[in-house]
Amino acid sequence: MSLPQTPYNYSLTQPLYDWHPWNMKWILFFGALIGSGICDRETFSGHQVFRINIRNEDEISKLNRLVNSDNLKLDLWKSPSTLGHPADVLVPSFSLQEVKSFLEDHGLEYSVAIEDLQNVLDSEHQQLQRNVRQELSNNCFNYGAYHTLEDIHKEMDSIVKSYPHLVSAVKIGHSFENRLMYVLKFSTGKGRQRPAILLNAGIHAREWISSATAIWTARKIACDYGRDLVITSILEKMDIFLLPVANPDGYVYTHTHNRLWRKTRSVNPRSTCIGADPNRNWDSHFGGVGTSNDPCSDTYHGLHAHSEVEVKSVADFITNHGDFKCLIDLHSYSQLVMYPYGYTTSRVPDADELDMVARNASKAMASLSGTQYQVGSVGSTVYTASGNTIDWAYDNGIKYAFSFELRDTGFYAFALPADQIIPTAQETWLGLKTIMEHVRNNI
Ligand SMILES: [Zn+2]
Repeated sequence: MSLPQTPYNYSLTQPLYDWHPWNMKWILFFGALIGSGICDRETFSGHQVFRINIRNEDEISKLNRLVNSDNLKLDLWKSPSTLGHPADVLVPSFSLQEVKSFLEDHGLEYSVAIEDLQNVLDSEHQQLQRNVRQELSNNCFNYGAYHTLEDIHKEMDSIVKSYPHLVSAVKIGHSFENRLMYVLKFSTGKGRQRPAILLNAGIHAREWISSATAIWTARKIACDYGRDLVITSILEKMDIFLLPVANPDGYVYTHTHNRLWRKTRSVNPRSTCIGADPNRNWDSHFGGVGTSNDPCSDTYHGLHAHSEVEVKSVADFITNHGDFKCLIDLHSYSQLVMYPYGYTTSRVPDADELDMVARNASKAMASLSGTQYQVGSVGSTVYTASGNTIDWAYDNGIKYAFSFELRDTGFYAFALPADQIIPTAQETWLGLKTIMEHVRNNI
């Protein structure tokens, strides 16, 4: 059964909250707090990112011991993927000495990948502010800049208005804090149900390049339809749905409070810690390896499968549609093209085909400017992660399920400079097109 779709009834630029006097009171209250500086942004002055070489299982267990020690407050940004690949760990300034001593005492090789995280975030913020002023003066969305949720919604609205015969906005639900969730639908089917592709972005709040790439991709699909043979032929046969910000509350929080927030913003009943990892919350081996049952952890799986309303909204949308053939989930960073499974290192029945498609996508991405993307299953390439989006998709009949980790490999990590948005989006587009073309030819 398809969802009722009334494409032009939804304005993406309507207020983020459903209007209600109670909500308004809270908005004013929190607005006052922000204005008075009580809710200032979290800062990371003197925090460093360590790149730690991991050469064997013994070093993995030492790293785990280090990362899991509560008092150090470390944040594992990048797990050591296959042995021989380094791990990236954010080390707060107050833990630097202790961590260095541990690494040296245990013979773990390391280097400092980011000297002072706050410097990197400050220049990102200044660039963002400059762009806000520029866009206000020329009234034009700059695809080479990062944006707030509100501005992304405005641009989605603008794309719908520019291409009304191809693009519509479909409401799929709302977030925990009651922000509306929309997908853009690209369709030439004139209301007829067609097999579909979902491009999903921004499930992890701090991975800004994912949402920036997605909104660029939305404009690209609309522009290229009727001009580019490949995208035109895909849209003659299938619909494409695109969700640029799958975790809207988290995304807003990265702009207002903590640039490095990853999870949702739901309240946990038995903890003061907020949110769950929406990419561990899907109903696929829920609560298994690679997840945490600690609500304070960045990989907390949530109370139960689909407890996060953002995950449930997307899952219901996919299930109600009933004919999705492909799902591509955009993350950052590490430069990887991956396929299921994440919950285990075992191979999926379609592993050979998915591996071949992912390799072709990676080749296409490298063809633009040489950026290398490694290929493999999630479980064998990065780490085991149960309850993730693409495992659920695959287990629910969406054979072509892929997860991209976009640029970079850790030089800027989550704070990828805005001047890399368009180059990243352009090369990613070649990978997306390669996969979608394969799907078109094989359904
Ligand atoms: Zn992610």
